[in-house]
Amino acid sequence: MENEPNEGKKFLESVHQFFDHAASFSRLSPGILAQIKAPNSVYKVSFPVEIEGKIEVIEGIRVQHSHHKLPSKGGIRYSMQVDEDEVKALATLMTFKCAVVDVPFGGAKGGVKINPRTSSVKTLESVTRRYATELIKKNLIGPGIDVPAPDYGTGSREMAWIADTYQTFKYGETSALGCVTGKPVGQGGIRGRAEATGLGIYYGIRETLADTELLKDKKFNGQSMQGKRIIVQGLGNVGYHAASFCQQDGAVIVGIAEREGGIFNANGIDVQDAFKHRSENGSILNFKDCKNYDNSTDLLEMECDILIPAALENVIHSGNAGNIKAKIVAEGANGPVTREAEEILLRKGIIIIPDLYLNAGGVTVSYFEWLKNLSNVRFGRMGKRAEEASYLRLVNAIESSSGKSLTAGERAFLTQGADEIGLVRSGLEDTMINAYHEIREVMLQKTIPDLRTAAFLTAIEKIGVSYESLGIFP
Ligand code: NAD
Repeated sequence: MENEPNEGKKFLESVHQFFDHAASFSRLSPGILAQIKAPNSVYKVSFPVEIEGKIEVIEGIRVQHSHHKLPSKGGIRYSMQVDEDEVKALATLMTFKCAVVDVPFGGAKGGVKINPRTSSVKTLESVTRRYATELIKKNLIGPGIDVPAPDYGTGSREMAWIADTYQTFKYGETSALGCVTGKPVGQGGIRGRAEATGLGIYYGIRETLADTELLKDKKFNGQSMQGKRIIVQGLGNVGYHAASFCQQDGAVIVGIAEREGGIFNANGIDVQDAFKHRSENGSILNFKDCKNYDNSTDLLEMECDILIPAALENVIHSGNAGNIKAKIVAEGANGPVTREAEEILLRKGIIIIPDLYLNAGGVTVSYFEWLKNLSNVRFGRMGKRAEEASYLRLVNAIESSSGKSLTAGERAFLTQGADEIGLVRSGLEDTMINAYHEIREVMLQKTIPDLRTAAFLTAIEKIGVSYESLGIFP
């Protein structure tokens, strides 16, 4: 099941309804709110690409939803279902997502109508480089203009092609690598970006589980990840890493739903092994000790503590929301729950951790990558050894004043300086924790009953302050 033709329209309508609902709690004027809601620019392009000796016309789009901060930022999606409304909805979410986690960017999103699974690597490279060229021609990409990243159907390989194409046209520009994020580490990427969205999802769920006030009537067995039964939809970049980090912290992954079907095992599924099985066999089905489900959407309705939809939008809708049994729906994907479905889930007492907060780990670490590219230096390179020397002096002083000696292992642990991955993860964890508490504070202050409305409102107020201080030009 992939997006039906009008799914993009429904998605955009849902995002607008979420916005309007949150805006009704805002102190901002209707004019400022209208400006915050409207996409600032939409660029549609058709370009020819030679595919196996024949010329084919490929459609691409880039929506820059908000220029209140520059650059604008958002992934590029490759799918035959890409349409203008879908990309507008995704770009809109990016604006609010950046604001929620205090990433100083406007929102954007891109899409190319191509099937990445049936296209050859050569075709994907030609399409990616040509799409990047179209953006360069119109000055719609650059470290200070608009910075794409991976999304559904794209990854670090495509980002490396975009960076190389940009550098070819902007030869000698010192921060050129900051034109795109999610690159391979060897091409100016940052350690920790590939798993950042999934890790951020883990931090967000962990923070929610620890929120005794929010969960007080939910009859959970404890406030930690330990033993929580999780079903994940989509074992791609987001779903795989989110499930892996939750599993590492003691959660039990009982179900995995993929495009070709789903698998379930109440005793738990090893995510790494299941991923390997799918890579080797081309299907998640027939994984050891699991029951197969031909219709993978059945998995969404099965008994679990936490459901992580991490594939596509609109998968929980008015038709199946009544059957959802999870206690928490953790939105890994963008827009997996429609506005109508949200009403049903909230009425059932299900907690929804909203996309604009929960999957913001990707853009957070993209921001770190962009900073790295602007400064052209790896995080930790300047300070790691100096930190280690200072910890060593401290440890030596403690040893000599206490008369006790630490083991070599203890000394190594205590005197370790921060390297790039350590700094990235620390920055991500801090961001996800702070953003959660900011949302909760707004929820309590304004007596808002759900996390999504509070997250939208938090973002709207921050963007509103930007617009108010920018003024209206001319
Ligand atoms: P991906 O292409 O890496 O993975 C998507 C997975 O979903 C694939 O394994 C695919 O086979 C599976 N899938 C497709 N249709 C399905 C269906 N009907 N049922 C079950 N599984 C299905 O994409 P991704 O980057 O993991 O993105 C997934 C979602 O997360 C999207 O909504 C995207 O916008 C959002 N997101 C991604 C990032 C990121 O950093 N990649 C950041 C924030 C949000």
